[in-house]
Amino acid sequence: MMWDTADGDEVTTADGGLPNDATTHGLAADDLDQRLAGALERMGHVARTMLSRQAYLEGVSPLQFQLLLKLESTAGPRVSDLAIELDVSQATVSDALGTMRRKELVSKQQDPADRRNSVFSLTQQGESLRRRLARWDQPIADRLAPLEVGEKGTALRVVLEVVSGLQDEGVINVARTCLTCRFFDDTTHPETATPYHCLLLDVPFADPQLRVDCAEHEPRTVGAAT
Ligand code: SF4
Repeated sequence: MMWDTADGDEVTTADGGLPNDATTHGLAADDLDQRLAGALERMGHVARTMLSRQAYLEGVSPLQFQLLLKLESTAGPRVSDLAIELDVSQATVSDALGTMRRKELVSKQQDPADRRNSVFSLTQQGESLRRRLARWDQPIADRLAPLEVGEKGTALRVVLEVVSGLQDEGVINVARTCLTCRFFDDTTHPETATPYHCLLLDVPFADPQLRVDCAEHEPRTVGAAT
């Protein structure tokens, strides 16, 4: 549909009378789902750009940055686990860790659980860089801070539901969220202010408390109800 603006220009409009949205790629002129997917893609682009800028400022690659955030001062996960979690090959992770060893950011040890494997931990230098990089997403958190807790809780659940669905379809490998956890129960007291229950800790909770990367997460069986 064509429409004349107050300045006399002609614009193509969608059903609601607003201009067409490029995120719909012309396939469905007013598809809310498509625009939400487009907004998430924009957000992902913003986050990747911020992370990359911060990484290069500190002299590391974005992957080395992500590895720094995954490792600790004590012996950490194996290369194979890191590769699965970051959705890259083991060779890519090994290369990045080799570079980080040369920069003296990580050290390599024999895996105490399996002597054929190696595990990596942060050096003091790596730990101090990790602390500097840990707040890379603060500008995003600052933008969210003024919003109502209820709004943020709903947004968190919606995004985690999308992540959970994509993990079930095999699009991503690892998501340690409540919605993909075998300890998550939303059937015991669903009509209350705290409709969920963490079966591991026996704690009721609600949307704003949903975990995005829980240390105690254990994967649920795919297809099990959340
Ligand atoms: S263990 Fe963690 S991820 Fe699992 S339900 Fe409890 S809080 Fe959520």
